[in-house]
Amino acid sequence: MRILPAPSGTGIVFRRTDLDGFEIEAISKNVARVSYATSLMKKGVLISTTEHLLSAFIGTGIDNAIVELDNLELPILDGSARPFVEMIQSAGIRKQRRLRTYMRIKRELELREGKKFIAVYPAETYSVSYTIDFPHQLIGRETFQVDLTDGNYLREIAPARTFGFLHEADAMRQQGLIRGASTENAIVLTRDGVMNPPLRFRDEFVRHKVLDLIGDLALLGKQILGNVVADRAGHAMHTALVSRILRDRSLWEETTLEDSVELPTPLVRAAAQQMA
Ligand SMILES: [Zn+2]
Repeated sequence: MRILPAPSGTGIVFRRTDLDGFEIEAISKNVARVSYATSLMKKGVLISTTEHLLSAFIGTGIDNAIVELDNLELPILDGSARPFVEMIQSAGIRKQRRLRTYMRIKRELELREGKKFIAVYPAETYSVSYTIDFPHQLIGRETFQVDLTDGNYLREIAPARTFGFLHEADAMRQQGLIRGASTENAIVLTRDGVMNPPLRFRDEFVRHKVLDLIGDLALLGKQILGNVVADRAGHAMHTALVSRILRDRSLWEETTLEDSVELPTPLVRAAAQQMA
């Protein structure tokens, strides 16, 4: 994988260098089947496991980039967004002249599916609250709430690794999934513990769900101003929320920092400086 700069207005575009540079935009319209990870598909060409990189782009404020890939799956690295964030920071971030357009949520939207819940509410910053409930003695019911301001993403979310249960790994391998999975790139849970301690946070599991959600919401194609609340959701519900938001134009409005007088938050100030 190689990340290249792109002009403003490009958005995030994946490019398959092994398929004559075929391009797939990271937008909701291109979301493919969604199960254990979020994949994009266009004209039968697949890009798989996009959510950790897209999450890192939101967390570092990257709106425009070309992502070259010579395969259908993004590198999993350590299972978190931290290596991507570090790559981006060491390459450097160029400020572009055009003002960023935000999608400001005006009305609430709630989706429910059995015990799963996801919603977005109007707010002047981007914040996420996530609850998970896993029947495991290290997890149970956990909630994590974060306002993505002042570098909170980089400190609190980016390092959180993906996780999986040892007893599910064999079944997934038989389906041809997670073939690269190992204790190097995921927290592996056994029936009563962790195969590869230590955890990076006591509640690393729910923080990773926040990381995934931010990556999936990047498929809106714009930075969002709203409060997202999720309870036991997953990639399918995350992307369902994205397509419902996009479909209902009365739920949101586009705003730039110039014409919004009431955005006094650190997030917006930081973004304004970045774009000045
Ligand atoms: Zn993930």
